[in-house]
Amino acid sequence: MRKEFVVIGLGRFGLSVARTLIQNGHDVLAIDQNEQVVQEISSDATYAVQIDATDEAALEQLGIHKYTHAIVGIGEDLKASILVTLLLKELQVGTITAKAKDEHHGKVLSKIGADHVIFPEMDMGKRLGNLLSSNNLIDYLELSKEYNIEEVRAPKGLNQCLVKDVNHNKKYNCTIIAIKNQQGEVNISPNDTTMIKENDVLMIVGKHDAIEKIHHDFE
Ligand code: ADP
Repeated sequence: MRKEFVVIGLGRFGLSVARTLIQNGHDVLAIDQNEQVVQEISSDATYAVQIDATDEAALEQLGIHKYTHAIVGIGEDLKASILVTLLLKELQVGTITAKAKDEHHGKVLSKIGADHVIFPEMDMGKRLGNLLSSNNLIDYLELSKEYNIEEVRAPKGLNQCLVKDVNHNKKYNCTIIAIKNQQGEVNISPNDTTMIKENDVLMIVGKHDAIEKIHHDFE
């Protein structure tokens, strides 16, 4: 479904969000105070305007309240980031996602009404740290504080084992939900008797510790 987004602050982050939304076929109103960056995206975005987004009247004139989702990509200028988020809230834009530089900034943004606060640099750093600390982890998605979906290379000891050897083992309390073989073919609904081969990539839902335990036991 085509959606309408406003992206304010077209730095590296905002520009990348705006471009991805456009590529995915959505309407994007792109805003920045810097004429050069507005020029850069003007041929792709539905509308691209150069205004100071802390100017309430200018935002109102653009019919900001009609947008269902706003993304505030201003990070360095704290005052502007906070003021713009506040104005968007007052103008009753649907959902507001704002980028924060650090935890204090994030706290303020949440307090004044940002629906989602993201920390691109901190999150990316954490992600890279986790990926580099583990030999087997290829990628992961945090489902909650406790549970992840992890993409891991099957350890040698799991070669010729069946999915049920992992899924029904209380010790691990995790579930293999998909398997990609060496040829890149993906089985999205492995059953209990599906055989695991060395070098398969397993998608597992569970706690990180449990998945580490499997690696320890089957190394
Ligand atoms: P990044 O780290 O993603 O590059 P920055 O914080 O450096 O993010 O970039 C923010 C962008 O937001 C810049 O292009 C800047 O011109 C724009 N910006 C900052 N303040 C305002 C404002 N008051 N109104 C509109 N755009 C702004």
